[in-house]
Order: sequence, then C-alpha cells, then structure tokens
Amino acid sequence: MAEFKTVRGMRDFLPEEARLLRYVEGRAREVARLYGYREIVTPIVESYELLSAKAGEEVKSRMFLFNDLGGRDVALRPEFTASVARLVATTLRNEPRPFRLFSVGSIYRYDEPQRGRYREFWQSNYELMGSSRPEADAEILLLTNSFMQTAGLKKFAFKVGHIGVLRGILTQEKLVDKVQSAVMQLMDKKQYEDAFRLVKSAGVSETCILTLRKLVELKGNNVLDVADRVAELVRDYEKSVEASRNLGEILDLVLKSRCYVDMMVDAGFARGLEYYTGMIFEVYVPGLDIALGGGGRYDRLIELFGGDPTPAVGVAHGVDRIMLALQEQKAAQKAEEEAEEEEKTVLIVPINEGLRGQALQVSEVLRNAGVVVEVEVMGRKMVKALEDADRRKMSYAVIIGERELKKGAVVVRDLAKRVQSTVKIEDVADVVKG
Ligand code: AMP
Repeated sequence: MAEFKTVRGMRDFLPEEARLLRYVEGRAREVARLYGYREIVTPIVESYELLSAKAGEEVKSRMFLFNDLGGRDVALRPEFTASVARLVATTLRNEPRPFRLFSVGSIYRYDEPQRGRYREFWQSNYELMGSSRPEADAEILLLTNSFMQTAGLKKFAFKVGHIGVLRGILTQEKLVDKVQSAVMQLMDKKQYEDAFRLVKSAGVSETCILTLRKLVELKGNNVLDVADRVAELVRDYEKSVEASRNLGEILDLVLKSRCYVDMMVDAGFARGLEYYTGMIFEVYVPGLDIALGGGGRYDRLIELFGGDPTPAVGVAHGVDRIMLALQEQKAAQKAEEEAEEEEKTVLIVPINEGLRGQALQVSEVLRNAGVVVEVEVMGRKMVKALEDADRRKMSYAVIIGERELKKGAVVVRDLAKRVQSTVKIEDVADVVKG
C-alpha cells in the first residue's frame, strides 16, 4: 500500500509544535482581552461569492475553491476580513460603534510552499470598526507591537506607509482603478521600473513620473521627518498631501504613547490587498525576509459588502511565522517553558488486573482535583511501567494495591527521589501538588 503523506503545503504539528502554536494563539487572545477586542468564531467555509467580492485577482486565483454536495460554490477562507465584514454588514449592522473584533484560526491559500509560506496557516486577526480617526490606526500599531513583545520576540520592526499618497497621485492623473491596482501590485513587488512604465503608458504628466521616482526613494527611521518630506514632495497632489498628513498624525500618536516601537516609513510601500485606503504596515524581524504580520485601513469595505459606510482598520498576524521567528531567535524555549506551568504528572498502575476498575476510579478523583493523570493501559508489570514513567520524566506513580485500598489508601511513589509512602486517597492530590 502507498505510504500516505500530507497534502502539499499542509503540515502536521507534533506535540512540541502544537504547544508552541497554542502558546502564540494564547498570547494573541490575551492581547485581544487587554485591548477590549471580543473574539468571534466564523466558518472556515464561506461562499465563493463573498470571498471573491473584494479580494484582488491574486487572492482570488489562489483560493481552495470547490462545489459542495448541494452544488454551492464555496471556498476555504483566504483571510478573516471578508467574514468579519459580512457580519458587520448583516447581524451586527445596528450595533453601536466602534466594534473591536478578534479572530484566530486557520487560513487557506494556494501559495507556492517555501519556508514560512504554507497553504494552511494560522492568523490572529484584529479589526477596529467605526472610527476613521488616527488614534484607531495608532491602536492597531500599538496592539501589534504589544503582541510581538508578549509572544517573546526580541527584535522586530515596522514598515509603515500610506496607500493614499500613491492613490492621490494616480487618481489626480486620472488613472482608472484597475490600472491603479496593477501599478500598486508592481510596486508591492518592488518592480518599480515596470510600474513607472505602466503609469507612463497611461499618459501621465512628467511631474507625475518624477514625483513617483522620488517617492519610492523616500524612507527612513526618523518617521515624522519622512512624513513631512513626503507631504512636501507631493505638494501638487491635494489628496496625497492629506494622506501624508494623516500618516504623520498616526505616527505622532504612536510616539506620544511612549511605547517603544521600532518603525520606519517607506513612502513607496504598497500592500498587495486591494481594499486598503489609508495607513498600511508590515512587521519584520531581522534575518527573516518575510512579514510576520500586516494590516492597514480599509474605509470602504463594509459598504462594498452591503453594510452602512463604516471606516475600519485592522491587522492579521502570521502565527506560523511568529513561531518560526521565535525558534530562530531561540526564544521558543522560553515561550514553551512559560506555556507549561510546572506541572506534576502521575501514572496510575494497578498491581493486578482485578484492580483496573479501582485504578480508573482513583484517576478520576485525582483529575477532579486538577492533577494530570495517565492510567497504565499496556498491562505491563509494575517494574516495566515504572521504568517507562521514569523515562518520560513523570513525577509520581500511584500504585493501586489490595492491602492499601482496604484502608482507603494507595502507594505514592516519587519517581525522581525514588521514595514511596502510603497515602489516603483523599490526600493524594495535595501530596502530588506539593
Ligand atoms: P495578509 O492577509 O496577506 O495581509 O497576511 C497577513 C500575514 O499572514 C502575513 O504578514 C504573514 O505573516 C501571514 N501569511 C500570509 N500568507 C501566508 C502563508 N502562505 N503562509 C504563512 N503565513 C502567511
């Protein structure tokens, strides 16, 4: 028979990895709690119509798309935002603003598998809906900073831009949306010359090309200064000036929060997803050339899903990539240690087959008291069972014998110290927990 393998792009998470995944998820949940984002759980399968409504061509072409048995066109979610937008446009329509919503779970994209790029991956997603003010954008940046920190990353940095700067120029130059998106996509891939050629072929002014060329060169860590220089450079384009002022205001608020956030502004930065309308950002770690998270402002999306006009800003963090970065920065061990409280584990061994029922009974008593208990299920002799528990670094063995049971007791063996004593069943949990 053929040896079965996982489907290309899909992975198994063995216990160590699964624990790290759940740990990172747990940190994401804690950040959501501290910032007041309430968790929602939406389906992994959504209608293709919904998922493709506002997705760019790139995302659309990479969906896991199929017909269900009822003949519906459905797909595995390639992002959370469409599901959240659906909810806000329907069920949550009349709820008071703002909404702070959090989701975490698996996402599916038919990407080309490589390090840090999978076809099934995990995201933690935060959406702040209802506010168009810069403090909302600043909150999303600060929350991301806080998450990366509490997850245990030692070094990471933000690349920030504003899609309105480019859009302002291209709109004033009368480029249609489709061409604008194509230009953005080229810029996103840093194919600047191709982008300029495309803009030129659309018949724009000489100033436009010159401005764009200078714009993609404008970047730096002195973020307020860069934002000012952008405003100066694009002075002929009113909407672009507004956008760079907005970016400056957001960055100023982040700086005033007194949180240390390692940021750089990149004026030529354009993110792939087409629905962004304002500030955009990505998070990177040194040595890993892939983004750990990305987000931005998308003020028109909810309307496009049939909801009331609702300005919104959000972020999606790549849980798998954070795990990778933690392993890279050797911070995973600390994270794992933190995740695993000093937990005592117990193996329960009946001394003969007739006591199997009592072994199960005692195991339930201990679990009800919060102790981690395994029952010997291999029918091994006492010595073999204890050897195995020792090898697996379990803390105690609880030996069920007739003589002790008559007195309502069992034998508790400390596997590290190699000492044992008879303990009343009701006291075992206390002894084990120390
Ligand atoms: P996006 O939804 O494209 O803005 O992506 C948000 C984050 O999800 C990225 O910054 C990555 O950390 C993560 N991500 C996106 N695509 C993948 C993938 N194929 N495999 C693993 N992580 C991914």
